[in-house]
Amino acid sequence: MLIRDAEIWRGDRDDVRLAAGRIEALGQLPPRPGEAVIDAGGGALLPGLHDHHIHLPALAAKAASVICGPPEVVDKAQLAARLAAQHGSGWIRGILYHESVMGLPDAPALDRLVSDRPLRIQHRSGRMWLLNSIGLDKLLQLAPPPPGLVRDARGYTGQLFEEDDWLRQALASAPPGFGDISGSLARFGISGLTEMSPRNAAQMAAHFAAEMASGALSQKVVLAGALSLSDIPPGPWHLGPAKLHLHEAALPPFDEATTFIADAHRRERPVAIHCTTEVELVFALAALEATGSLSGDRIEHAGIVGDDHIPRIADLGLAVVSQPHFIAERGDAYLRDVEPRHQGELYRLASFIGAGVPLAAGSDAPFGSADPWAAMRAAISRTTAAGQIIGGMEALSPEAALGLFLAVPQDLLRQRRIAVGEPADLCLLALPWQAARDRLSADDVRATIIGGEIVYNRIDQPPA
Ligand SMILES: [Zn+2]
Repeated sequence: MLIRDAEIWRGDRDDVRLAAGRIEALGQLPPRPGEAVIDAGGGALLPGLHDHHIHLPALAAKAASVICGPPEVVDKAQLAARLAAQHGSGWIRGILYHESVMGLPDAPALDRLVSDRPLRIQHRSGRMWLLNSIGLDKLLQLAPPPPGLVRDARGYTGQLFEEDDWLRQALASAPPGFGDISGSLARFGISGLTEMSPRNAAQMAAHFAAEMASGALSQKVVLAGALSLSDIPPGPWHLGPAKLHLHEAALPPFDEATTFIADAHRRERPVAIHCTTEVELVFALAALEATGSLSGDRIEHAGIVGDDHIPRIADLGLAVVSQPHFIAERGDAYLRDVEPRHQGELYRLASFIGAGVPLAAGSDAPFGSADPWAAMRAAISRTTAAGQIIGGMEALSPEAALGLFLAVPQDLLRQRRIAVGEPADLCLLALPWQAARDRLSADDVRATIIGGEIVYNRIDQPPA
C-alpha cells in the first residue's frame, strides 16, 4: 500500500510505502501496478495512537449495561426511572454507580427499585457489586457464597466486594465480544492498547487471543494483569506489567505488596501500581524503595502528587500513566472534594516531564472517555466542564499532549516514529498538523492503519 503526499510526523511531506506490516520506504515513490493508494493530500500522518491504560472487557460490557451514576444519574428518582425503563426479563446489569446517588443500598433498598427480575449494579470503582434480593438468591443458587459477600446480623446484605471471578463463574458468563469497541477505538486513530485490569489471567488472555485471531479486535494489545500471566504461553498479545491495585481504604499489608513487586521483578516483569490518592502513592513509593525498581515500573493515574514525591518517582526511574481528561470530566467534583492546597497536585503533567519522568496517557475507559483527542484537549486547557482551570502550570503543548499517546507501550521513555522498518500502525489525519493542533478533534482522523491494513477509513464511511 502506498500513502501519497503525507505530512510525516516530525518529518517532511513524503510518500510512504507499507509492506508486510511494516513501513518499507519513505520518499518520492511512484505507485506500483495494482498497488492500493491513499492520497493523503498533505494530511498529517502520525504513528497510530496507543491507549496506555484501558479496561476493554468493562468497556464492552458498558455498551450492554445501564448507567447508574453521575453525570447521567444523580439521585434515587433518576436511578429508579432508568431501571424502570429496562424492558425484558433476566438480569439488569447496572454500572458506574456512585454513592452520591443513594448511598450503598442493600438488597431490600434495591428491591424497591426493581423487584421482579435480578439486578446487579457495579460501583464506579469496579470493585463492588450491589444486588437486589432476586439477584442475590439467584447467585446463591448457582454458587456457594464467597468471602466478599457482605453479611450482617440479618444475613447477606447484597453487597459483594472484589469477587468478580466468583461472579463470572457463578453466571458462567463469557467476557463480551470486542468487535464494536475495537471499531470505535479505530475511529479515534487508536492502533494499540494496554489492557490494565488487575485480574486479567489465563481466561482473559485466551479471550483476547480469540478476539484478535477472529479479527474482531484489530488493535495491538499489551496485556497487563495478574502475576500468573507470566506463566501462560505467549499469545498474539504482548505481556504487560503486573498490576497492583492499591485502595486507600483497604491497603494490603506492606510485606504483601513488597512480595508482589519482588515476585514480578524476579520474573523480569515490571509492575503497574494504581495510585489515585496521596496515601496510595506514599505506600507505593515506599514499597518500591524497599524492593528496588525495575525498568518499566509505572504509576497508574498519579491522581495527587505533592512536590516532594516527584523527585522520588524520578529517582526510582518510574513512568507515570495519567488521565488528563479526568480534569475535564471530574474536575468540578475535585474542586468540591479535594482540599484547596492539594488541588494543584491533581493529575500533574508538565511537572513530570520537567523532572524527566516518562509520561504517557490512557483513557481508563469505561471509567473515563475513550476519546484520546478529548484527553489531549484537557491536557492543554486543564479546564473543567464548568470552566475552572486546575493546575494551569501543568498544561502541555499540543505536541506534548499527542506525545502522551505515542510512547512505545513497553518503554514509555521512547516515542514511536514513522521510519523505515517501524510497524505500519498509523493514524492519518485529514489536515496538516498546524491545522489539526488547534482543534485536536477525533473528527479529523481520516484513516487508521494497523499492521499495514486499513481498519478505519472515513472515506468509506456513510455520512453521519
Ligand atoms: Zn484503570
